[in-house]
Order: sequence, then C-alpha cells, then structure tokens
Amino acid sequence: MQDTETVSTGNCVIDTQFPWAGSRRQRYRRTVEVMPSHLADVGGIPVRRALPQRTRRLVGAWCFVDHFGPAAADAMQIGPHPHIGLQTVTWLLDGEVVHHDSIGSEQVIRPGQLNLMTAGSGIAHAEEATGNAARLHGAQLWVALPDRTRNSDPAFEHHGALPQVSAGSFDVTVLVGELLEARSGARTDSPLLGVDLAGRPGAASLPLRRDFEYCIVVLDGRLTVGVTDVVPGALLYLGRDLDELPIACDAPVRALLLGGEPLGEDVVMWWNFVGRSRDEFDAAREQWNAGSDRFGEVTSARARIPAPLV
Ligand code: MN
Repeated sequence: MQDTETVSTGNCVIDTQFPWAGSRRQRYRRTVEVMPSHLADVGGIPVRRALPQRTRRLVGAWCFVDHFGPAAADAMQIGPHPHIGLQTVTWLLDGEVVHHDSIGSEQVIRPGQLNLMTAGSGIAHAEEATGNAARLHGAQLWVALPDRTRNSDPAFEHHGALPQVSAGSFDVTVLVGELLEARSGARTDSPLLGVDLAGRPGAASLPLRRDFEYCIVVLDGRLTVGVTDVVPGALLYLGRDLDELPIACDAPVRALLLGGEPLGEDVVMWWNFVGRSRDEFDAAREQWNAGSDRFGEVTSARARIPAPLV
C-alpha cells in the first residue's frame, strides 16, 4: 500500500471550529470528530477501514467502510464467502472486478458503476479483480439492513451509470439516495445517502438534511470540510442537524459523503455477518461451514473462505 498522510489527530476525537458561510457562521460552529482508519487485509489487499470505529459503529445504516488501494490491478482476490443482514456497495475509482454470487449473478464492475448486493437472509459471493487495468482503487461499503427487511430474499443490482450533478467545482455522483436534483435508482431499505465527490480546485456547498447524520471519507487528495482538512485514512463524522456542507479543495480530490437517518436498532457485526444477536451468527457460521443451501453455491476458481470458529 502506498504511504498515506498521517491523520493529524493521534486520538479519536478532536474539537474543531466548523464555521460556515456568511451570517450563519456562529450558528453552525460545532464539534466534529476525525477518527483514524485502522489497517486490515481483505483478500490480499490492504485496506483502510474507516467504519466501524470503536466509538462509532454506524452512520445512518452505514456500518462498514473499507478503502482499498491504489494497488496492483489484480491484487484483490476474494473467494466465496457468505453474508447476512447487510448490503454490500462496491465502488471503484480504478480497476475492474468481477462479482459472482449464489443467486446466479455474474457482473463485471468498472469505475463509475455500482454493484449493490442485498444479502438478506443469506447469500455468498466472490470478488476477483481481473487485472484489466493499470491499478485497483476503490471502496467497499456495507449497509445494515433494518429489522423489517434483514431476513428478506437475497438480491443483486448492477447500475452501469449513475446520476450526476455539478455543485461549484465538484462533480457529484449519487450512488444511493438523492442529492440536489440527482436521484439514484439503487435500492435502499432505510433513508440513506451515498455520493462520490470529485473536486477540482474551488469550493461548493451541498444541501444536507437535518434528520440525517453524515460522515466523509477521502479516497484521494485532500478535502477541506468547513475548516477541517481530511485526507485518506480517516473518518470525518459530522453528526446531525446540518443544513449545508461547505467543501473545498486546492487540488483534485475524490471523497465519499455518506449519510442517513440513524437506524435506531442495536446492530451487531461479526465477520461477514450483520445481525442482532450472537446466536444468529453461531447458526450462520455452522450453516456456512457445513455447506448448507442457505448460502448456495458460487462459481469461482477460488477456495471457499471458512467462517472462523470464534
Ligand atoms: Mn463480501
């Protein structure tokens, strides 16, 4: 993995002033949190895991944010493994990955496209970089499904093109939810927003919803949010009750703005599973390791990844 800039906070939380434009400067002065991502390895590729954090498990229904690469184009090779209770959102800045799952989906994804897999009661998939690119760089995000739909049938969507809108010097691509006049057709099971921000030198102000909480993860470059600079390797948590988001950059930048209505459910995560109790995980682990048809079969040359015993 390339070296990234060290996040200026050594610890979890800093207080920073967050002045906003014009007469509302005082009103919006507030505290935000900058939390360093932790490093992990997924399928041979190092990742910066921005969420979950020890002190913050969810942002809206977003429960997992992995930023991988830039790395060799074929670096990510993840054999068949199961999921329950979540959606996986795959988003590439560079590279090409093929997805196979146990409901028969086979889908190549390229930059600008969205793969959205809804695990529901159980699915398995494999994700393999094809190597047909100069390098691999992207993010995989998980969304915790609400209790209402978390045991639903598994599903998969590919969106070959997504709505885009300009705001100031930023191009905004809406992966899920809606922002400005752009609305994604991707399935959401709770009120949610996920957008890619591609900035050229300059600034923008994005309208936010006061009932959503938001965070930002920078994938490339440096983004100034209010008066806080954010670089790869950190989660900027903004909280709720914001009407607008002032962003700026002095060089090209790519970042994800994620948000949603707080889920308000006690979500538990273990390995590749999202649920509400340890008992659910014990059952899913035993079923996956025993080859139960709950998770089906995945077409892949890679070995199945067994669930850990503890
Ligand atoms: Mn997966």
